[in-house]
Amino acid sequence: MSDLFGQSARELIERLRYHSGPYAKYALEARKKYIELRLNQDKKIKSMYIRIIKNIAKEVRDLAVSGGSEMRIRHLVELEKAIAEEIATLNGEVDEITAEFIAQAVEAGLSYSQGVTYEVLDGAGIDKAPMVRQFRKINVRAAEAVYARTINGLSTSDRIWRNSQRAGTAIRSIIQEGVVIGKDVRDVARSLEKYAQNGKQTLAKDYPNMMKRLGNRVPQDISYEALRLARTEMTAAFGEGTIQSVRVSPSSKGIQWVLSPSHPVVDICDTFANADHGLGKGVYPVGEEPRFPPHPNCLCSLLPVHEDPDDFVDKLKEWMDNPSAQPKIEEWYKEVYKAA
Ligand SMILES: [Zn+2]
Repeated sequence: MSDLFGQSARELIERLRYHSGPYAKYALEARKKYIELRLNQDKKIKSMYIRIIKNIAKEVRDLAVSGGSEMRIRHLVELEKAIAEEIATLNGEVDEITAEFIAQAVEAGLSYSQGVTYEVLDGAGIDKAPMVRQFRKINVRAAEAVYARTINGLSTSDRIWRNSQRAGTAIRSIIQEGVVIGKDVRDVARSLEKYAQNGKQTLAKDYPNMMKRLGNRVPQDISYEALRLARTEMTAAFGEGTIQSVRVSPSSKGIQWVLSPSHPVVDICDTFANADHGLGKGVYPVGEEPRFPPHPNCLCSLLPVHEDPDDFVDKLKEWMDNPSAQPKIEEWYKEVYKAA
């Protein structure tokens, strides 16, 4: 979690504060929401994994009651139905919570430009109700788009399903290994619980030979892939909210790629953060921003770039007196505001 709270996380916040200038409070609030969502999502997904393994471990332990405590092949058959059911439940729950968190991360992502938009409209005495509707629409549409997007041909729910199946394989492998070495069912149950709680190394310590044979059928941490996926989707959702909100905000000039300070090696993010489109370093014209995030675990941030609030309120007032004096605002009024 140090990526969210460590030195580089604090540096990123300083960068966001610096670049957002008069709008720093919106930038920092949005970032705070994002971090809270990330922590909450991690905790929920992790606990879903732990819970289903505990349920399976209980089934394993109960085998001892039905005669003999040594793990047998027939036990595998008895357990299979429970394992399949637990994995199906896990998959459904992770899928549902990922979709919910995507919607909330979109909302956090668009909150910056939403706040700016309401502020300048209020400043000029313009009714903001149409923009409230507009932001609500964006939230729903962007969340759907992120959830539906495919990576290597797999949708979010395909990828969640694949991770759930892998968890099933790891669980079955540990149980099968119990049969191979004739372990006590209670030991197998304990192995499963330990693995769910503390990862593979605790198993390696207790059962070095077993872990050698299991190899990479058992991942280091059973929920790691699910967490990585959910975090990537959340980052994409936050970014998509940011991008879509900039498109409808009258004072937006572009979108800035703010590089995460925790980049050990130069990668594609450095290129994006240093690109020059004539709007300042790393600032993209609306609609020309690169696909975000470019890789899993990317900690960069997209930051809306807006005109100075006081200047923009003056422009709005000028436009109200004479629409042709501010053609960009007039265009926004016709295409975004009135269309909402
Ligand atoms: Zn990055």
